[in-house]
Amino acid sequence: MNIYIIGIGLIGGSMGLDIKTIHPEATVYGIDTNKKHVDEAIALGVIDAEGKKENLATADFVIVSVPVDVALVVLPEVLDSIGEQTIVFEVGSTKSPVCEVVANHPKRRNFIATHPIAGTEFSGPSAAIKDLYQGKTNIICEVERTAFKLQEKALDLFKALGMRIRYMDPKSHDKHIAYVSHLSHISAFMLGKTVINKEKHEQDIFDMAGSGFESTVRLAKSSPAMWTPIFKQNKLQVIETLEEDISNLTQYKVLLINDDYDAIVEEKESVNKIKEILNGMNVKK
Ligand code: NAP
Repeated sequence: MNIYIIGIGLIGGSMGLDIKTIHPEATVYGIDTNKKHVDEAIALGVIDAEGKKENLATADFVIVSVPVDVALVVLPEVLDSIGEQTIVFEVGSTKSPVCEVVANHPKRRNFIATHPIAGTEFSGPSAAIKDLYQGKTNIICEVERTAFKLQEKALDLFKALGMRIRYMDPKSHDKHIAYVSHLSHISAFMLGKTVINKEKHEQDIFDMAGSGFESTVRLAKSSPAMWTPIFKQNKLQVIETLEEDISNLTQYKVLLINDDYDAIVEEKESVNKIKEILNGMNVKK
């Protein structure tokens, strides 16, 4: 079995590691514009060898795991080069633009649009980890547009990686993900910014930062190169979520100004139900 990973970072690299365990007979090739990442991925055992785009016709699977703006260019080129039985999937955090860009491609039926809801704040092949996808959700969009036999092939792999599947149309995906992922990133970055601007002496931040601060700003360590194109592609949805969030922050400020602590308790109790929601999600996993 020949697997090609285009973009050998956290997401593609973690798939490479698990695929090598699930399919020890497979050869995992990596293609990346960053030569250092190719060498690092080979040294870390994330891939077996560097791949060449001209050999994509021999691929069983092609995983496109590059930033979402790059995917709009790379994915049609990949589809131009693959064989009849190759299944290609792209893992980007937005789904409408990528589905639109290949909507009329002659090899559209060889493509399955996915978003594995898994990750960390780190990037590059050194961030790749085993079992990243175990128990995580993989959102699949427009599954009916993928050839049935190739769907089955992809689903078998996702199952072997330990993922549960959720089907969604690309627009709904982009709307929902703006709330649960993209807004969290902005909140983390802006909390980090507020604290850094105020506390000019970094040692003070370090000394006083508890685990609450650390876990809330964790995402502020994420790669701007990977995240900025996501915000650009999902701009309208993200602005909508930001407006709601800013309005909630402003209302909270007003409660404090007015010494309305009963309302603050009420507000907190009503948001505390996030515990049950998150516990429920963990049970489903
Ligand atoms: P990453 O760790 O930065 O890896 C991306 C890799 O692609 C890097 O090695 C990058 O090289 C390379 N690359 C850039 N342009 C390329 C091109 N034209 N051809 C080949 N390789 C190229 O990013 P990631 O976190 O794995 O994210 C990859 C995709 O997964 C993104 O679309 C993202 O939206 C999606 N995703 C991410 C997460 C997450 O939590 N991180 C979760 C789910 C989905 P350079 O570093 O030199 O640019």
